[in-house]
Amino acid sequence: MRRIYLDNNATTPVLPEVLEAMRPYFGERFGNASSIHHHGQETRAAVERARDSVASLLGCKASEVVFTSGGTEGDNLAIAGLTSAGDHIITSSIEHHAVLLACKHLEDVDCELTYVPVDGRGLVDPDDVRRALQPNTKVISIMMANNETGVLQPVEEIARIAAEADVYFHTDAVQAAAKTPIDVNLIGCDVLSISGHKMHAPQGVGALYVRKGTHLQPLFYGGRHERSHRAGTENVPGIVALGKAAELAMQGFQRGDEKKMSALRDRLQQGILAQVEEAGVNGDGAPRVPNTSNIYFDHIEGESMVISLDLKGLAVSTGAACSSGAIEPSHVLIAMGLRSDRARASIRFSLGKQNTAEDIDIALALVPETVARLRELSPAYRSTASM
Ligand code: PLP
Repeated sequence: MRRIYLDNNATTPVLPEVLEAMRPYFGERFGNASSIHHHGQETRAAVERARDSVASLLGCKASEVVFTSGGTEGDNLAIAGLTSAGDHIITSSIEHHAVLLACKHLEDVDCELTYVPVDGRGLVDPDDVRRALQPNTKVISIMMANNETGVLQPVEEIARIAAEADVYFHTDAVQAAAKTPIDVNLIGCDVLSISGHKMHAPQGVGALYVRKGTHLQPLFYGGRHERSHRAGTENVPGIVALGKAAELAMQGFQRGDEKKMSALRDRLQQGILAQVEEAGVNGDGAPRVPNTSNIYFDHIEGESMVISLDLKGLAVSTGAACSSGAIEPSHVLIAMGLRSDRARASIRFSLGKQNTAEDIDIALALVPETVARLRELSPAYRSTASM
């Protein structure tokens, strides 16, 4: 059976060029990047080359890039590293759990939290952020692109509000990096997190942009790696891979790859909506990253749909991978005002660089027939259909 993977917001396959770039650092180039001998110098040079590449992707200086173990660590380091007891944090109700639960923990240890809502399209209103400011507000953390809907937030405007109030602005750009161009100076953020495995590098590596002069407390104590922002021997193969993935992403932007991807995504979305009734796009009308489409199919159970499609070789998801299998409907879709049955009937399709037009053709053949069969099996649907 041919397997088609449209769950690239959960994780992406490592691209062959990325694998080739990292391979020597598992073998002959094994040195600890802190060692002063030849082996260490070789890996140090590779780490610094990767830092330059990540800095180019983000539009910052290499000295402002801190390598991490991924998005979760970057989000935690940003939020916990900028706050202490008594501080007020503003975030949104649709953040990834890496932000939401870091904030919840800080709330438990004496920080104050405000969660701004989103509208029906999944957008934060910057005025809500402005209104939430307090004299003790220390950091605003609003994601750049949502992992479930792909909706892009008005981060530039929020950054301006933060700067005017002299408050730090962190944005979780894990689902935006390599999908849409990022320039930290155009955004105006102080801290920004990215993750390797969402951009065709391996799992377990990421980076945090930390604007020069930002005082960030570390999460880990140990060696003085990463300018004392992140103790721990560097994951050299992972860092090299992230650097290569950043280079490939920039080459992709030069070729206009994101336009090709949004054309494929739009064909999938329109093709599904043309064939399936009582379906619609969550986040419609808002700007979105080019690879994501979150679609509700009324009268089905999202989990049943994921399993049925998987049996036919198509991998999709009901939302955040980390909460798949949980009975709770997506907090993102609920925050957007969806009824819980509609939130449970929603499926996320997310494309990656490896997907082809043929993949979309196959998905377009599989999805409508699967929805029809599941609705056929649903007593609730049969009774409304026969009315
Ligand atoms: N933030 C967002 C928006 C995500 O989608 C994810 C992963 O799904 C993370 C953070 C966590 O990243 P990682 O898996 O690298 O820890």
